[in-house]
Amino acid sequence: MSKAKTIQSIRGVHDILPSQSPAWQHLEGCFRELLSHYGYSEMRMPILESTELFKRSIGEVTDIVEKEMYTFTDRNESSLTLRPEGTAGCVRAGIQHGLLYNQQQRIWYTGPMFRRERPQKGRYRQFHQIGVETFGMSGPDIDAELIALTARLWKILGLINIDLELNSIGSAESRKAYKAILVEYFSTDMSLLDEDSKRRLTSNPMRILDSKNPDMQALIQNAPSIIDHLDEESEAHFDQLKKLLDAMNIPYIINPRLVRGLDYYSKTVFEWTTNELGSQGTVCGGGRYDGLVEQLGSKPTPACGFAMGVERVLGLMEAQGISTDTPVPHFFMIMAGDEAQLAGMKLAEQLRSQFPQLKLICNCGGGSFKAQIKRADKSAAQYALIMGENEINNNSVTIKPMRDRDAQQQTLPQAELVTYIQSKELFS
Ligand code: ATP
Ligand code: MG
Repeated sequence: MSKAKTIQSIRGVHDILPSQSPAWQHLEGCFRELLSHYGYSEMRMPILESTELFKRSIGEVTDIVEKEMYTFTDRNESSLTLRPEGTAGCVRAGIQHGLLYNQQQRIWYTGPMFRRERPQKGRYRQFHQIGVETFGMSGPDIDAELIALTARLWKILGLINIDLELNSIGSAESRKAYKAILVEYFSTDMSLLDEDSKRRLTSNPMRILDSKNPDMQALIQNAPSIIDHLDEESEAHFDQLKKLLDAMNIPYIINPRLVRGLDYYSKTVFEWTTNELGSQGTVCGGGRYDGLVEQLGSKPTPACGFAMGVERVLGLMEAQGISTDTPVPHFFMIMAGDEAQLAGMKLAEQLRSQFPQLKLICNCGGGSFKAQIKRADKSAAQYALIMGENEINNNSVTIKPMRDRDAQQQTLPQAELVTYIQSKELFS
């Protein structure tokens, strides 16, 4: 009889294995704690949204909406999409629940995002973002706060060699004038443009600056700079942001080509980039999107946010040799026989009540004493707790140090185990 074929995960979509999850939890934990210190609250948005939301917010003429979304028709004929990013859903939820109008909000979120891109290192079809969105604050102070807290996260994680690239893309008004100048520049010799850029020349010329095509780079480098075409208000905003970053000792590189892929940005845009991850070097990107809330049907509300790619940050940690400790159990309970199992599992629960921080694994699935010792060893536990016939008869328990070869095992009355554990100062 032929064996059934095993099923593999789909392309560009990955499992996060138990050996990898400590690093994920470490990053998420550091971020969660940091954000709570800065006064941010978590929002958990749905993964499925109506397709219309992304078309209206991200914009029809973007890579994401044109070719990267996982969209399907539901049984009732409505079009649904697996979220490609978090901002649209966050704003949708904020409007729906009345959190935005005339209020200040500092929100963060994390979770999987879906884009049908060509999978490669640092670029996946299901990937994860940690993002922050702020609402109701129009000044450069909040832009600076967002940048400062990402800079602090790199420091907490021990990451180095991440550059802050900064730009201002001005107000919608000033962009209009700049776009005309840009169209003139790019139209001089149409043969120099690739197919995407030709299309964008009419739909959204600024996005040509965002092109990753190596053949386009020289032309892009020489394009007129948006910084030279900012309106007065955007220029003052940008100046004050730079002053704040200087005051906070956060170095930055002005990159006038930085326009970001999405249409809803205005004024400040920034990216944190590294040269240690090959061509997928942007670990975090964000900026101000004062127009989006109105674009999604509510009253105008200033907003600023960013999103970082979790896989890329973890990739950089790995590249820089930053390891995360796998949690080590304190004890592994070995129980030989049914009677021992009763006594051992009862004792284990008593200990867990007594010491909420105790990491204790109970042997399950039987096995000889030797097999259980092997499991205890593999678990990396510091000590084995042994419950055998003698121990049951004497109400005792044997403690076998697993990591220190010179240390002796000892048998104690069960009643003294609490004092023993306290004396070891395992939880400091
Ligand atoms: P890129 O230029 O690398 O395609 P992007 O401008 O499309 O990035 P954003 O939409 O700003 O990215 O998302 C914020 C962050 O999410 C990126 O800076 C990156 O770290 C991460 N990211 C985006 N797309 C992917 C992906 N397909 N796989 C893994 N991480 C991603
Ligand atoms: Mg992209």
